[in-house]
Amino acid sequence: MATGDLITPTQNTWCPGCGNFAIQHILKEVIAGLINDGTPAERIVLVTGIGCHAKMADYLGVNSFYSLHGRTVPVATGIKVANPDLTVICCVGDGDCYGEGLEHLLFAAKRNVGITVIVHNNRVYGLTTGQYTPTSPEGFPGKSTPHGTIEHPINPLTLLLSSGAGWVGRGYTRRLPHLKGLIDAAVRHHGFAALDVLQICATFYNRAACYNAHTYDLADHDPSRFEDAYAKAHEWDYTSEAPIPLGIFFDQDLPRFEDRVRESAAPSTDTNAAIGRILDQHR
Ligand code: SF4
Repeated sequence: MATGDLITPTQNTWCPGCGNFAIQHILKEVIAGLINDGTPAERIVLVTGIGCHAKMADYLGVNSFYSLHGRTVPVATGIKVANPDLTVICCVGDGDCYGEGLEHLLFAAKRNVGITVIVHNNRVYGLTTGQYTPTSPEGFPGKSTPHGTIEHPINPLTLLLSSGAGWVGRGYTRRLPHLKGLIDAAVRHHGFAALDVLQICATFYNRAACYNAHTYDLADHDPSRFEDAYAKAHEWDYTSEAPIPLGIFFDQDLPRFEDRVRESAAPSTDTNAAIGRILDQHR
């Protein structure tokens, strides 16, 4: 499949220079790669939340589900549990998933649901014109905090790691080949994968100069060791201009939630047998 086949005719309304374009470009290449490697197109599902990122569901020509604000991960979990053969990719925003949807994200990490969560982390609510999110730096002068937010941001990577996530990474939209490798690895990971993608909001929070100067590749990092992953994830606190590591922080194969659900179901009951027949009919 050519990547152009995955672009819909819907008019694109993202601002010029928005980091969403880079993620869209890479995602269509990664999805085309999956299809060319044998994954049927109808077995790929994109789930989005609410925010500028969510228009990805309009712009990419794959099966998609436009969910409620912060509820992308539970919708994706339901899809994956109902049909484990599907490749389920979530595009979420930082306000969307680290704010409203945080508990869903952490429980999906804890359960190791076999979905990929790509966080468009521009560290601002762009669609609603510039309020602070959980990853905005302390002092951020947004629409709702004109004198600067007085809160310290969360570190989503340490949260995900301490919640049990088997695959955790961070990319940046202006390092395209590097980001493509990360998205491809995340989507092909067998269990839960969470990729925090630093992107600029060209209109309300453009951090390109900071990210260009301070990001570096975790080239020599061993992602199999939890302690090393946690230490690297702790290196940048989402406020300072300390070196910002990019790459795969942690990579471990764990039993998947959807497989354990099936193993733990009692197949002898009439109810379970009926549910199984219904699910089989819809594959
Ligand atoms: Fe992108 Fe920001 Fe414009 Fe939204 S407001 S489309 S995040 S640049």
